[in-house]
Amino acid sequence: MSWCPHCKTEYLDTITRCADCGAALVAELVPEDHSPRRFVTIYNAPDQQTAETVVATLQSAGVPARLQHETLGPGAGMLPHLGIAWDRGVLVPQEYAEQARVLLQASPPDEEELAQEEQENPVTLEEAEARVRDL
Ligand SMILES: [Zn+2]
Repeated sequence: MSWCPHCKTEYLDTITRCADCGAALVAELVPEDHSPRRFVTIYNAPDQQTAETVVATLQSAGVPARLQHETLGPGAGMLPHLGIAWDRGVLVPQEYAEQARVLLQASPPDEEELAQEEQENPVTLEEAEARVRDL
Protein backbone atom coordinates (compact mmCIF):
# COMPACT_ATOMS: atom_id res chain seq x y z
CA MET A 1 0.00 0.00 0.00
CA SER A 2 1.01 3.61 -0.55
CA TRP A 3 0.26 6.45 1.78
CA CYS A 4 -0.02 10.20 1.38
CA PRO A 5 2.29 11.75 4.00
CA HIS A 6 0.04 14.82 4.24
CA CYS A 7 -3.51 13.46 4.21
CA LYS A 8 -2.67 10.06 5.74
CA THR A 9 -4.78 8.53 2.99
CA GLU A 10 -4.15 5.00 1.84
CA TYR A 11 -3.78 4.29 -1.89
CA LEU A 12 -3.13 1.30 -4.10
CA ASP A 13 0.51 0.59 -4.93
CA THR A 14 -0.13 1.57 -8.53
CA ILE A 15 -0.93 5.14 -7.48
CA THR A 16 2.11 7.39 -7.06
CA ARG A 17 0.53 10.72 -6.24
CA CYS A 18 -2.18 11.76 -3.81
CA ALA A 19 -5.43 12.59 -5.57
CA ASP A 20 -6.23 15.25 -2.99
CA CYS A 21 -3.02 17.20 -2.49
CA GLY A 22 -0.69 15.88 -5.21
CA ALA A 23 2.02 14.81 -2.77
CA ALA A 24 4.27 11.89 -3.71
CA LEU A 25 3.07 8.80 -1.89
CA VAL A 26 5.31 6.88 0.49
CA ALA A 27 5.44 3.16 1.25
CA GLU A 28 4.65 3.67 4.91
CA LEU A 29 3.84 6.55 7.18
CA VAL A 30 6.53 7.65 9.60
CA PRO A 31 5.14 7.68 13.13
CA GLU A 32 4.68 11.14 14.59
CA ASP A 33 7.06 10.29 17.42
CA HIS A 34 9.96 10.31 14.97
CA SER A 35 9.42 13.92 14.06
CA PRO A 36 12.02 16.41 15.34
CA ARG A 37 11.67 17.71 18.85
CA ARG A 38 9.16 20.52 19.09
CA PHE A 39 10.36 23.50 21.06
CA VAL A 40 8.02 25.88 22.81
CA THR A 41 8.75 29.36 24.10
CA ILE A 42 8.72 29.07 27.86
CA TYR A 43 9.81 32.60 28.67
CA ASN A 44 10.25 35.97 27.00
CA ALA A 45 13.03 37.86 28.73
CA PRO A 46 13.13 41.67 28.85
CA ASP A 47 16.79 41.60 27.85
CA GLN A 48 19.53 39.28 26.62
CA GLN A 49 21.17 38.90 30.02
CA THR A 50 17.96 37.76 31.68
CA ALA A 51 17.36 35.33 28.84
CA GLU A 52 20.80 33.79 29.31
CA THR A 53 20.24 33.60 33.07
CA VAL A 54 16.99 31.74 32.55
CA VAL A 55 18.62 29.34 30.09
CA ALA A 56 21.46 28.68 32.55
CA THR A 57 19.00 28.14 35.39
CA LEU A 58 16.98 25.63 33.38
CA GLN A 59 20.04 23.84 32.04
CA SER A 60 21.46 23.43 35.53
CA ALA A 61 18.17 21.76 36.46
CA GLY A 62 18.50 19.30 33.59
CA VAL A 63 16.19 21.06 31.11
CA PRO A 64 17.81 21.44 27.65
CA ALA A 65 16.75 25.06 27.27
CA ARG A 66 18.16 27.35 24.63
CA LEU A 67 17.81 30.86 23.29
CA GLN A 68 15.35 31.30 20.50
CA HIS A 69 17.82 32.71 17.97
CA GLU A 70 19.74 29.45 17.94
CA THR A 71 16.84 27.84 16.16
CA LEU A 72 16.80 30.39 13.35
CA GLY A 73 18.74 29.75 10.21
CA PRO A 74 21.10 32.00 8.26
CA GLY A 75 19.80 35.52 7.92
CA ALA A 76 18.54 35.64 11.48
CA GLY A 77 20.93 38.51 12.11
CA MET A 78 18.88 40.60 9.73
CA LEU A 79 15.85 40.50 12.00
CA PRO A 80 16.78 43.04 14.72
CA HIS A 81 16.16 46.04 12.45
CA LEU A 82 12.54 44.94 12.35
CA GLY A 83 12.37 45.37 16.12
CA ILE A 84 11.75 41.70 16.76
CA ALA A 85 13.11 40.48 20.09
CA TRP A 86 14.25 37.32 18.44
CA ASP A 87 17.19 36.74 20.77
CA ARG A 88 15.29 36.87 24.04
CA GLY A 89 12.89 33.99 23.85
CA VAL A 90 13.79 30.94 25.91
CA LEU A 91 12.86 27.65 24.28
CA VAL A 92 12.50 24.23 25.83
CA PRO A 93 11.42 20.93 24.27
CA GLN A 94 7.68 20.54 24.58
CA GLU A 95 8.02 17.60 26.95
CA TYR A 96 10.03 19.81 29.33
CA ALA A 97 7.63 22.76 29.24
CA GLU A 98 5.78 21.84 32.42
CA GLN A 99 9.01 21.18 34.33
CA ALA A 100 10.46 24.48 33.11
CA ARG A 101 7.38 26.43 34.21
CA VAL A 102 7.61 24.94 37.68
CA LEU A 103 11.31 25.80 37.86
CA LEU A 104 10.72 29.38 36.76
CA GLN A 105 7.92 29.83 39.27
CA ALA A 106 10.16 28.49 42.02
CA SER A 107 12.83 31.08 41.18
CA PRO A 108 11.25 33.76 39.02
CA PRO A 109 13.82 36.02 37.38
CA ASP A 110 11.30 38.85 37.15
CA GLU A 111 8.07 39.35 39.05
CA GLU A 112 6.55 41.37 36.25
CA GLU A 113 6.94 38.49 33.83
CA LEU A 114 5.31 36.15 36.31
CA ALA A 115 2.31 38.45 36.57
CA GLN A 116 1.95 38.40 32.81
CA GLU A 117 2.02 34.64 32.78
CA GLU A 118 -0.81 34.50 35.29
CA GLN A 119 -2.91 36.75 33.10
CA GLU A 120 -2.39 34.39 30.19
CA ASN A 121 -4.03 31.56 32.10
CA PRO A 122 -7.69 31.85 31.13
CA VAL A 123 -10.43 31.47 33.70
CA THR A 124 -11.96 28.05 33.39
CA LEU A 125 -15.53 27.73 32.18
CA GLU A 126 -16.62 26.43 35.58
CA GLU A 127 -15.13 29.44 37.35
CA ALA A 128 -16.73 31.84 34.93
CA GLU A 129 -20.13 30.24 35.36
CA ALA A 130 -19.76 30.28 39.14
CA ARG A 131 -19.05 34.01 39.04
CA VAL A 132 -22.12 34.63 36.90
CA ARG A 133 -24.28 32.68 39.34
CA ASP A 134 -22.93 34.70 42.27
CA LEU A 135 -24.03 37.98 40.70
ZN1 LIG B 1 -2.59 13.99 0.13
